[in-house]
Amino acid sequence: MAGPELTLIAPAYNEAPNIRPLYEAVLKVLEPAGISFELLFIDDGSRDGTDAEIALLVAADPRVRYARFSRNFGHEAASSCGFRLARGQAVVLIDADLQDPPEVILELHQRWREGYEVVHARRRQRHGETWLKRASAYLFYRGFNRMVERAIPADVGDFRLVDRRVVDHFNALPERNRFVRGMFSWLGFRQTVVEFDRQRRQRGVTKYNYSKLLWLSLDALTSFSAAPLRACMAFGLAITLFSFLIAGTIIFQRLFFDLAVPGYALATSGIFLLGGIQLIFLGVIGEYIGKIYTQVQGRPLYIVAGSSDDLPPAPTKETADPSPESHPPGRS
Ligand code: UDP
Ligand code: MG
Repeated sequence: MAGPELTLIAPAYNEAPNIRPLYEAVLKVLEPAGISFELLFIDDGSRDGTDAEIALLVAADPRVRYARFSRNFGHEAASSCGFRLARGQAVVLIDADLQDPPEVILELHQRWREGYEVVHARRRQRHGETWLKRASAYLFYRGFNRMVERAIPADVGDFRLVDRRVVDHFNALPERNRFVRGMFSWLGFRQTVVEFDRQRRQRGVTKYNYSKLLWLSLDALTSFSAAPLRACMAFGLAITLFSFLIAGTIIFQRLFFDLAVPGYALATSGIFLLGGIQLIFLGVIGEYIGKIYTQVQGRPLYIVAGSSDDLPPAPTKETADPSPESHPPGRS
């Protein structure tokens, strides 16, 4: 059986008040356009009744599907799960908080029809985000792209459309540490970008604070590039050369001028400096070893605790029967 034209994946972590508005907004855009779709919620271990909100939609509309994680595994794991479960000929990854306006899906769809296999949505404006967030995002994209083999388009987030062929390749990638947007850039195929204004979050709160974002970008960088290791080596080399220079100077002064060099301050601060640098570099190496470790452990990316596929098929419009007995057990 061929799937719908589009699968929309919406990872949701404590987004209860956003679930129905997202569904309604999607319906308003896609139904008039005559695009067949399924809306796939990945409940990333929410504890605020997100699952109940999703269950209501699942019971009412067979186009809504969901999977529920056993705990919070993070956005990257949730989207990886979504790509695996998606049945559409193209897949759109969208935030559940309506910051990615559903109208943009039509543009993504249009470019896909023109033959592009990956269509990224680039934020032209970011409403309701602090300058610090914007500045750090700017720096991250510029820095990341200097260090990796394939750049990701600047200011592109997770909102994108991906053709079935590319989705299948994505699902076959073996890494546990999944920086999804980087992986799609890496995969290649015909890619393009459409622009949109990122909306303010209407309800609920952001799940990403600055320290989480910082670790996320470190993770992303070390998953895609060995440049930090090389930078360590280059720095170590420079310091070694510098120490030769100092040694040469001291010997020279000893031999020809007989100066007693008062080197106490230099020696102590040098020891601390080098000790600090070594610890940082060990940390960098440790970061990569940690990645190897989690990869070798080979644990699954996420644990699905329940999904709409476990339920009996939802009533379609034709077979829907309003009498209460006809409702399958376990669904309401
Ligand atoms: N999200 C998730 N798991 C997490 C954190 C976030 O599935 O651990 C979802 C969240 O529900 C939302 C999307 O990822 O749909 C983007 O998160 P958020 O809006 O908090 O990030 P921001 O837009 O502020 O960068
Ligand atoms: Mg958001």
